[in-house]
Amino acid sequence: MERKLLYEGKAKRIYEIKDKPGLYIQEFKDDATAFNGLKKEQIKNKGILNTSITTALFGYLMKNGIPTHFVEKISNTEMIVKRVKIVQAEVVCRNIAAGSLVKRYGIEEGKELKPPIVEYYFKSDELGDPLFTEAHIYELGLATPEELDHIKELTLKINSLLKTFFAERKLLLVDFKLEYGKDDEGNIILADEISPDTCRLWDSETRMKLDKDRFRFNLGGVEEAYEEINKRLS
Ligand code: UDP
Repeated sequence: MERKLLYEGKAKRIYEIKDKPGLYIQEFKDDATAFNGLKKEQIKNKGILNTSITTALFGYLMKNGIPTHFVEKISNTEMIVKRVKIVQAEVVCRNIAAGSLVKRYGIEEGKELKPPIVEYYFKSDELGDPLFTEAHIYELGLATPEELDHIKELTLKINSLLKTFFAERKLLLVDFKLEYGKDDEGNIILADEISPDTCRLWDSETRMKLDKDRFRFNLGGVEEAYEEINKRLS
């Protein structure tokens, strides 16, 4: 497939496909970054593992009625996706306190959050992805109230589907980040990825961290943790 690099992010590349104007290739890299790009390394096989995990999770969500950009997995590290315009607000959903929630509000790590908390972050490397509210999103023209209501509803539905799916595999879904896009018809659909880079996943019994926190905090066994998640999904 003849392709042209359209965008290179921290963990992925997006290509246009020459003869398929409505489709992109999303390629997963081994590169890992944390703390706004301050910590940078490669994690062996991460591209392969995150492709496998993302395509499995998107496939499961689609079977359960969630619209996504996923079309087809075409290689170990590449999936074909529908062209979308990414909504410049990252959506985080939390079931258990961890990460920035603990740091920001002093809530004890591991505390169950009932109901789940949904947060929005402005997608802006320049500004350091600040936490923001609905009002900011409308003021910046990133989404309309109707679109954001729909995004929140989809996020909570995805949360309950994923929580069940992971629970069946002895995993706790602590929190995760989603990105949405608008397709050519203006529909809001799930985009980007869902992987141990973008979720916190703990073993249900031991509460061992099996996600990017192993990289962030130098806990060791990073590749092994991603492999374990992939194994439990397949
Ligand atoms: N997250 C992400 N990309 C980001 C920020 C957060 O995928 O740019 C994910 C992160 O992996 C975690 C959840 O969103 O699963 C909540 O992250 P948090 O706000 O606790 O921030 P962090 O601890 O990553 O700074």
